Amino acid sequence: MKVLITGGAGFIGSHLAEYHLAKGDTVTAVDDLSTGSTDVFKGFKPERFTFVEGDILTWKDLDREVKRADRIYHMAAVVGIVRVLREPVEVTRVNVLGTERLLESVVRSHHLPELVIASSSSVYGHSRQEALGEESEVIYRPEQGGLTGYAISKLTNEIQAMAYRHIHGLPITIPRLFNAVGPRQSGNYGFVLPRFIKQALSGIPLTVYGDGTQTRSFCDVRDTVRALALLSENPKAWGQPVNVGNAREITILDLARLVIERSRSSSPIEFVSFARGYGSEFLQTTQRRPSIDRLQELTDFRHSWSLEQTIDDLIRRNSDRIVPQGRLL
Ligand code: UDP
Repeated sequence: MKVLITGGAGFIGSHLAEYHLAKGDTVTAVDDLSTGSTDVFKGFKPERFTFVEGDILTWKDLDREVKRADRIYHMAAVVGIVRVLREPVEVTRVNVLGTERLLESVVRSHHLPELVIASSSSVYGHSRQEALGEESEVIYRPEQGGLTGYAISKLTNEIQAMAYRHIHGLPITIPRLFNAVGPRQSGNYGFVLPRFIKQALSGIPLTVYGDGTQTRSFCDVRDTVRALALLSENPKAWGQPVNVGNAREITILDLARLVIERSRSSSPIEFVSFARGYGSEFLQTTQRRPSIDRLQELTDFRHSWSLEQTIDDLIRRNSDRIVPQGRLL
């Protein structure tokens, strides 16, 4: 199979590449390297793998590569709370127009590659259900500013995907990704777990925003990519949003404690106001846990990684890369 991954030098994109290369597939990854890095390809064998630097809005070889692909994962997007708050115009430009350009290219190709258009748990906005199901109503508060912009850009991606499925019959999977974690994730643009790991291994305070009672559900990226592939293989999954994540929920304070415990770190926990972390306008998301019933009805997906196993793996991989005071080698 020939696989094209937009945003292929990003965290999830690079794991998709690794997953397909391990299966013997041929992979082309395109990325503008705005946040991604070619460092993520270290150890990839070049025979069946190609990286191209290109912006999803202008990449001139898009049509040619779309024609060649059997499956396309569209991961190119402005992500990470730091970038999202700093670059609200890029959020809508890249996320919405980039997806439109890709979908138009697929239509022009007169060819039906399986398509995976990445959505996000952020589409649930401030929904307050215990477990967020795909049918949950969504609530947005405009005062959240940039983050609402990101959530709506991802909801727009879902609507674009469903519209192109309806009108052009494209075989599109629409995963709503919940907090993927794992190797190669950078803490530079938000993303709590790599930050906590680095802080714990460096012996500096773990910065818990707010009082740490907010919850998230973390899914190992290696499970995430397997779920994406399984969904894409099943025509019954096409054309509808499907939550992809792990139903185990944890408070951020407990996550900090878990990282300290498993790394045997002497780091203290430091509570930092959301205003200091993200600016005074910021309205936090207090809770986020997926119902994964639809994913499990559509596939035989089961998680291979527990949160503890992921944390241990990250500690092991990062122990020799970090020197005290938090400098990453
Ligand atoms: N968070 C934190 N300390 C940090 C970075 C993040 O307490 O150094 C919190 C953040 O406020 C949020 C949670 O961890 O409540 C998850 O943040 P992340 O950026 O990983 O994901 P998202 O908020 O997009 O779900």
